[in-house]
Amino acid sequence: MHQPELQKLSEAIRDVPDFPKPGILFKDITPVLGDSKLFATAIRALAATAAEETVDKVVGIDARGFIFGAAVAMELGAGFVPIRKKGKLPWATETESYSLEYGEAEIEIHKDAVMPGENVLIVDDLLATGGTAEAAVKLINSIGGEIVALSFFIELESLGGRKRLDVCRVETVLAY
Ligand code: AMP
Repeated sequence: MHQPELQKLSEAIRDVPDFPKPGILFKDITPVLGDSKLFATAIRALAATAAEETVDKVVGIDARGFIFGAAVAMELGAGFVPIRKKGKLPWATETESYSLEYGEAEIEIHKDAVMPGENVLIVDDLLATGGTAEAAVKLINSIGGEIVALSFFIELESLGGRKRLDVCRVETVLAY
């Protein structure tokens, strides 16, 4: 991706101090989603991180990972699989607990959403502490998926999330 395009994406992200808790600088990506050109650029950049791979399933993490993940799946010609917060998926699930930059949570995946040996690309909007993505990696491993990479639109480098995911290839479009 060319520098001017990345610059435009970066300028569109809105920093919201103290949301949802004091001390958190929230990266609001809704201005990117609301602009058709910027949204398309973001999706192309995320899909490009896996251009050399065969991807069977894109796994998106609840909730902003659905927006990016579903569009990336279309771009790559892959299926889309949601990882949801506990209690939302209707079929047989695997569950993992994890801690967030602001709180605790549990996430789930349908046991039959990824077949053993299928190639998986995990997509989410933002890598902070890496707790969510680490739990997603465990869920996909538990049902036999092969993770080709994790691709994030934004990485908050100072939070060190990448270290928790060091067994996988981690790609990010914008880093702060
Ligand atoms: P983590 O598990 O700490 O890597 O947190 C990742 C998830 O929390 C991402 O899916 C984001 O949607 C959300 N998140 C965490 N920190 C922020 C932040 N500073 N700005 C926006 N979203 C955030």
